[in-house]
Amino acid sequence: QTKKSREEDWAERGAAVMKSADGARIIKKGVKDFQFGRTLGEGSYSTVMAATDRTTLKEYAIKVLDKRHIIKEKKVKYVNIEKNTLNRLGDHPGILRLFYTFQDERSLYFVLDLASNGELLGFIKKLGTFDEECTRYYAAQVLDAVDYMHSRGVIHRDLKPENVLLDDKMRIKIADFGTAKILDLPKPGEEGEIDDRANSFVGTAEYVSPELLSDKSTCRSSDLWAFGCILYQLLAGRPPFKASNEYQIFQKIVKLEYSFPPSFPVDARDLVERCLVLDPSKRIRADEIKSHPFFEGVEWTREGVWKRKAPRLK
Ligand code: ATP
Repeated sequence: QTKKSREEDWAERGAAVMKSADGARIIKKGVKDFQFGRTLGEGSYSTVMAATDRTTLKEYAIKVLDKRHIIKEKKVKYVNIEKNTLNRLGDHPGILRLFYTFQDERSLYFVLDLASNGELLGFIKKLGTFDEECTRYYAAQVLDAVDYMHSRGVIHRDLKPENVLLDDKMRIKIADFGTAKILDLPKPGEEGEIDDRANSFVGTAEYVSPELLSDKSTCRSSDLWAFGCILYQLLAGRPPFKASNEYQIFQKIVKLEYSFPPSFPVDARDLVERCLVLDPSKRIRADEIKSHPFFEGVEWTREGVWKRKAPRLK
């Protein structure tokens, strides 16, 4: 089947009418409400396409998942996690928003914010490194979005530059919540979590935290380890822990074996060193990162982080 005929095939399917719990008819968006456009990317279980709402003309990215493939590969759980976490996170400028979901016989559809500038990784590859100003701008948005998701009881567990997408205004949108963990939020006055023992491996070798490798546990702080790796990568052009295979990467992580290139800015170095701390309880917290000298001058408000014009990448 050609790509074109596949796109037309999708566009013709889809149910639009649903019944609510009390039996009332509700009109739900379906495949027919969107004009499908170019393919934005392919994942192992999905194709992401640009699409326009025929009524409002608003553009979206629609992630199309093949049901049979997901069932066969036992990924139903991850698809549900992605949907549930995105629904819980709702509306924050730094998180890819899920607007609608629907399905037809063959596929599941997630209607998402369009991130037309693709992955942060693409810009790191193209530019080699970011200067301090650009690093501060993008890292501040990543941190603010991570802090928000943590406040909503979500640990991402696979933060990396491939999962940081960029919209048309070059503002970040964190994506890929298929391996996230939803925590039971502590009741007011109670201390938080670390409930999360005995996971199977999640994440990507270069960004994985030492606690996941040593005792298979993750906590909010594991995302801040990954944040430290991303901050390092923006300024150095490569992640701190790199080797020719995963085992060797893991060895370096648990031994905290990494070094800084000579030109690495002093304040950023201090911040990375406070993120890449083996003991998660001694690692810097998100609120402490916000007041670290590297972020001096950043106003941690919606205006200060999300409304400023993106500095020119050079
Ligand atoms: P895998 O499932 O194999 O881990 P993945 O998580 O990258 O891969 P998808 O989330 O389906 O898979 O994304 C496929 C591609 O589409 C990626 O390259 C991603 O950058 C791109 N993409 C995903 N969501 C959007 C979006 N909302 N806007 C623009 N591009 C997107």
